[in-house]
Amino acid sequence: MTAQTNSKASVMTRNEQWKQIREKLRSEYGVATFNSWLKNIELEKIDGKLVTMTLPTRFLCDWVLNNYANRIRQLWNAADKSITAVDIRVKPLDKKNIAAQKPTFGLADVSAPFNGKAVAAVEAGATPDPSLMAPLDPRFTFENFVVGKSNELAHAAARRVAEAKDSVPFNPLYLYGGVGLGKTHLMHAIGHAIAANSPDKRVLYLSAEKFMYRFIRALRFKDTMNFKDQFRSVDVLMIDDVQFIAGKDSTQEEFFHTFNALVDQNHQIIISGDRSPTDLEGMEERMRSRLGWGLVADIHPTDYELRLGILQSKVEQGKINIDPRILEFLAHRITSNVRELEGALNRVLAYSDLVGRAVTLESTQEVLRDLLRANDRRITIEEIQKKVAEHFNIRMSDMHSARRARAVARPRQVAMYLAKHLTSRSLPEIGRKFGGRDHTTVMHALKKIDELRQEDIALSEDIDLLMRMLE
Ligand code: ADP
Ligand code: MG
Repeated sequence: MTAQTNSKASVMTRNEQWKQIREKLRSEYGVATFNSWLKNIELEKIDGKLVTMTLPTRFLCDWVLNNYANRIRQLWNAADKSITAVDIRVKPLDKKNIAAQKPTFGLADVSAPFNGKAVAAVEAGATPDPSLMAPLDPRFTFENFVVGKSNELAHAAARRVAEAKDSVPFNPLYLYGGVGLGKTHLMHAIGHAIAANSPDKRVLYLSAEKFMYRFIRALRFKDTMNFKDQFRSVDVLMIDDVQFIAGKDSTQEEFFHTFNALVDQNHQIIISGDRSPTDLEGMEERMRSRLGWGLVADIHPTDYELRLGILQSKVEQGKINIDPRILEFLAHRITSNVRELEGALNRVLAYSDLVGRAVTLESTQEVLRDLLRANDRRITIEEIQKKVAEHFNIRMSDMHSARRARAVARPRQVAMYLAKHLTSRSLPEIGRKFGGRDHTTVMHALKKIDELRQEDIALSEDIDLLMRMLE
């Protein structure tokens, strides 16, 4: 350390002062936080009123500057009135430091903690590792979460946990459901809400996968004590995608102990998985039963209303101008999960942006052809014709006949319209299935029904109903 002297104070005195400041920081912020962020700060020099300190990484510098610099400045100022500013810079790395910084297992360790009291794992003797927690996605808030029948229980439970100040409503909260249905979104939303309502709480969010990597790393560095301390000192622990550690015995064991320690201290645990605790194969029985102790809330596949609601909310947020019928089309056709639904909307918008034309049904179908195929639940045109014929009380044969009376022509047009919206068939293919009609006839039908839907509410409702029945 090269601490230049300021006026009369000796190097020794500066070091003494710095030592005392470090002690104060340690007792004020707690050992875990101190070790994670502050331990490796080195005093570089003092120049008049400015103290310059160093840390090994840009990330640590930014984090400490944003969160602790003020307090550090106050403490320096209390020790020496002439000091009124602090600066923290990246310390040039030597070889040893570079080696210690390399992420193990090729994990991309870019992350931003979201809570001032966040906890990070510390490798034995190495640089504090702020990468323990995954970053929270700023878009994943409760405000941006659209609630429907399929997710209302999970949402209500997440809210309850997020709003509980001093109590632990259910422990653990276990959220489960298929991929892309909003589990991670809800967990991040809890994280944001707690950070806003109870900034003192130490919240730790990470995937089970990352938990495992950290644990293995701790084993390798013979640093499991530290690892345990880090995890057991948080107020709220969130582990995403717990199914990942099924079958990984030693990680499971460690997780089990962490889990019990936190439950014993009455600290909140939130877990997500892709299936219910009882269905977690490769998970020890005692762990499965623990996971089911609190509230188990499942997220069901989305229904049409929710999908449409999510699309509308995206469009509103982004102030995007788009024909509502396109949203309806997407909500009908992209049923797999919300992630794909969002992806589809983005693709359609990007395309329209690129070619400089408004989004149409045709362009949407063109751009999303592969996705629509994959999402096709193979509704056949025959099924559509049958349902429509039943609904309007006409004969199935009238779908193919040449009769042009409105009583049969209109339902036939409706069936064509539904065929276009619910299957991936081309216009000529649809025409062929309707008694060998020309594709221009089909086009005319689509246009006609689109127009009628605007003015004829009863017809519009009929069509909605039919769509729902066919799905
Ligand atoms: P999971 O973790 O269950 O696989 P995610 O939470 O990552 O799913 O959700 C996938 C995407 O869908 C995210 O972009 C998320 O914001 C979005 N999403 C899921 N459910 C909803 C919802 N109810 N309202 C708004 N967006 C949602
Ligand atoms: Mg997820």
